[in-house]
Amino acid sequence: MLADQDRIFTNIYGMKDRSLKGARARGHWDGTAGLIAKGRDWIIQEIKDSGLRGRGGAGFPTGLKWSFMPKESDGRPHYLVVNADESEPGTCKDREIMRHDPHTLIEGCLIAGFAMGAHVGYIYIRGEFIREREALQAAIDEAYDAGLLGRNAAGSGWDFDLYLHHGAGAYICGEETALLESLEGRKGMPRLKPPFPANAGLYGCPTTVNNVESIAVTPTILRRGAAWFAGFGRPNNSGTKLFAISGHVNNPCVVEESMSIPLRELLERHCGGVRGGWDNLKAVIPGGSSVPLLPKSIADEAIMDFDWLREQRSGLGTAAVIVMDKSTDVIKAIWRLSKFYKHESCGQCTPCREGTGWMMRVMDRLVRGEAEIEEIDMLLDVSKQVEGHTICALGDAAAWPIQGLIRHFRDEIEDRIKAKKTGRASAVAAE
Ligand code: NAD
Ligand code: SF4
Repeated sequence: MLADQDRIFTNIYGMKDRSLKGARARGHWDGTAGLIAKGRDWIIQEIKDSGLRGRGGAGFPTGLKWSFMPKESDGRPHYLVVNADESEPGTCKDREIMRHDPHTLIEGCLIAGFAMGAHVGYIYIRGEFIREREALQAAIDEAYDAGLLGRNAAGSGWDFDLYLHHGAGAYICGEETALLESLEGRKGMPRLKPPFPANAGLYGCPTTVNNVESIAVTPTILRRGAAWFAGFGRPNNSGTKLFAISGHVNNPCVVEESMSIPLRELLERHCGGVRGGWDNLKAVIPGGSSVPLLPKSIADEAIMDFDWLREQRSGLGTAAVIVMDKSTDVIKAIWRLSKFYKHESCGQCTPCREGTGWMMRVMDRLVRGEAEIEEIDMLLDVSKQVEGHTICALGDAAAWPIQGLIRHFRDEIEDRIKAKKTGRASAVAAE
């Protein structure tokens, strides 16, 4: 278990003062100019050595991403963009940072902005996050007043301005290139990659897009050292991590823990365990709605990190743990997600536009048992034609939960179809 002194986010529940005074008392904004004075290469190397992998869901190594930014200016401005469009179902960790510990993010923006050669940073915040944007804007204003942003920010010699931009409630704007389109004033539709944002990002200029948590942890990593952060978790899966746990646990919560903590320990230490006890567990979605669910037999052994969960054909994703006990209709739970992805598809590529609707309509019938057994394989086949054949990851995200359901709960789907045919209505989900 992570010791209190190893937690970066010490005000997740807002029990302490979130203002600049409170943030300073908790050690933030301490020696920021000194960290910047160590130079861009040192900062990027420390982040590489810390093993930090992107906390937005994909787990791409942050230091490596930073190193893609051109070193020499070709006359184009550089930008830092923070993806605060947290919308993945089950995910509510960045929200807590922005609500209760906003200075961790702002200090991170200054340091990352400097390391990227950016004089301007944008935080693109989810439209529905009204309290969060108020808290964040108040903290940005405080930082300007204290000379921590703007000209010679924090006495570092680096000029850095930070702007908060409000989204308007579209899930797809959390995809980094759709976010950039939206920031530029256009409809949020993903761009083809490559080019990646480091080459052609905001207004066609070199841009780094990072998740809130990824940026907010960087000042503490630099202050305490890469080795400290790398000391938590398994190799290639290092650091501390915010987990957002919801569903059938006794006390849903957001908690910072060591990466690679066993799932059972995470739930029993911080959430009072599964409702009705561990044996009452049916399935878990370990990383937000885009990753496949896992049955109890795998959850029993689960290690909460990128590589372990990937080996189980699932993922850590956003580390949003959705717990389902035995009362859960898993077919209905995944049907609900397929409805979500169909609704949020931007519609520009055919496999996603047509496939999400097709999958949702089959799921619609499966949930009522009104399908043929053969349609299960047809559904799987369609999901594979969507997966990997679209511009952005939303197509994969729509396909994977369905694949996970069929992989682990095929019997339950078949039983429902058979029950419907033989009139055993009690076995069929209530509508
Ligand atoms: P991705 O793997 O395409 O990219 C991850 C990051 O690495 C991006 O910033 C990308 O530019 C960079 N990258 C990847 N390959 C690169 C390369 N070869 N060169 C340079 N840069 C490279 O994934 P993604 O589409 O950004 O994210 C998908 C994940 O987002 C999903 O798995 C899901 O977990 C997560 N997600 C999170 C939320 C949320 O609310 N936090 C919402 C939806 C999805
Ligand atoms: Fe739009 Fe879906 Fe294509 Fe992504 S995969 S670009 S959401 S149509």
